[in-house]
Amino acid sequence: MTDSTKYIFVTGGVVSSLGKGLTAASLGMLLEGHGLNVAMQKIDPYINVDPGTMSPFQHGEVYVTDDGAETDLDLGHYERFTHSRIGRASNFTTGRVYDTVIRKERRGDYLGKTVQVVPHITDEIKERISAVSGDDIDVAVCEVGGTVGDIEGLPFLEAIRQFALDRGRGNVLFVHLTLLPHLRASGEMKTKPTQHSVGKLREIGILPDMLICRCEQPIEDELRDKLSLFCNVPRHSVIEEQDVETSIYEVPLVLQQQDVDTVIMKSLGLEPTKTLELAHWEAMIDVLRKPRHTTEIAVVGKYIELQDAYKSIYEALTHGGIANGGTVKIRRVATSEIEADGPEACLRGVHGVLVPGGFGERGLEGKVQTTQWARDHRVPFFGICLGMQVASVEFARHVCGLDGANSTEFDPDTDHPVISLLEEQRELTDKGGTMRLGSYPCRLKPGSLAARAYGESLILERHRHRYEFNNRFRRRLAERGMLFSGLSPDESLVEIVEVTDHPWFVATQFHPEFRSKPTSAHPLFREFVAASICYAEGREPTRDASTGQDDSELPPPADPPTPKAVAARERQEGAGI
Ligand code: GLN
Repeated sequence: MTDSTKYIFVTGGVVSSLGKGLTAASLGMLLEGHGLNVAMQKIDPYINVDPGTMSPFQHGEVYVTDDGAETDLDLGHYERFTHSRIGRASNFTTGRVYDTVIRKERRGDYLGKTVQVVPHITDEIKERISAVSGDDIDVAVCEVGGTVGDIEGLPFLEAIRQFALDRGRGNVLFVHLTLLPHLRASGEMKTKPTQHSVGKLREIGILPDMLICRCEQPIEDELRDKLSLFCNVPRHSVIEEQDVETSIYEVPLVLQQQDVDTVIMKSLGLEPTKTLELAHWEAMIDVLRKPRHTTEIAVVGKYIELQDAYKSIYEALTHGGIANGGTVKIRRVATSEIEADGPEACLRGVHGVLVPGGFGERGLEGKVQTTQWARDHRVPFFGICLGMQVASVEFARHVCGLDGANSTEFDPDTDHPVISLLEEQRELTDKGGTMRLGSYPCRLKPGSLAARAYGESLILERHRHRYEFNNRFRRRLAERGMLFSGLSPDESLVEIVEVTDHPWFVATQFHPEFRSKPTSAHPLFREFVAASICYAEGREPTRDASTGQDDSELPPPADPPTPKAVAARERQEGAGI
């Protein structure tokens, strides 16, 4: 055995989308609450090397870590629920595993042996699972993607079976999340699919230690006995995860009420170092149950019909609401609707507008119209990534009179390329792993909305984009009232823009939503929601007099210069791209 870290594997049965990520995150949070050091990991059986190149329609949001990994959105739950270190090692796929094994084979590392699923692929999986453990980690919660019974999941299940054998009894716990469907016609809750799913696990040699059962109603005693008997799981380890009423943040409380944390710690021989304290978490949920304010915010995007495409943004808006003692109603507006019916028809009555990130030309003009509407109507506006690029394009077109201004992503021949590639990026052709990814520092302009929200001058935020604000246009836009309130420390990259003649108009090149938590909302989401509550209640947030554009501080306008471009490139390489 390499280290003393205990492991909890969370598998899923019966159907997909049961909320394994939320359940795993909740377990991590409860264990952390007992003073244990927790690591979280998601292992995904699909063949893509990472989800970075997958369409949001396929996979929902791509979640970005501080160290620049493009990962599964469940890692967002992990970061929202726990303080565990999430990074490159926290998520890997079959594609990544095969990529490594094939490279090793080409290098001759296997000394001419036949390279096989067992042991070569399974060894590589085990090694990657071990990568999150260490002497400073008491317990690792590892979520196995997919549903038991999927062909592609087999090597993963085989690997975790071996892993349990390697680490020995008492060091690994298998938690199986299943569904107990309720048949309305007979008024019964059915256990058979769960029995079959557990049977499948047993065929592979995995005996689950705990069953967590998603259900719409409480599990009757008799049914609990049946599940225990047929699935060979102690009765106190048959856990009910009934649908929550108000918020996903109730899940840890539901699990805790059934002593899941104590059962797990006992099985794994983990000693708590402090008493679990959930008062702050309960208080947070209380705000959602009894909000003092309500505000409606429109999120205008291309993938709006998909619940998961803007997951972290929706969560961060909820956090912003909580921080203001209120609740945020989200109006999801498709860019195509804006283009068809006009912004007024779609946005009338909202108290804030958020334009999220995105790729590709479809929907761009709808986003520009949305932004113009929010600016003209003095409705609080928050642009994120592409939303910031759109805000710059809109301002250039309609305030600075630069007709046809655009990003070269959408119009390579535009006369006014307000957003463009950095010089050294122009040769890149690959789509995977060629973006500015991960955490970068940003210096805030004193007195700006951003500086006042953060309450500090140097921040770190996560990026995922190829295009940048084109410095040639900085002076033109600044002269007409755009404030470049966040710049990279060497001032070569624009990270935040604000419109000064507006109550609250902030747009960021980075993704603040990835760093927001339910009990500590991201400062920009907190302030955006605060501004929208003011708007809803007929008050206009007042702007500090010191928020003014100071041209003398602007660097001379120029094309992205080579030395700075080189520095930017080096930073990208530092992020492991
Ligand atoms: N498509 C834009 C770029 O690549 C914005 C990306 C995003 O919004 N994540 O720069």
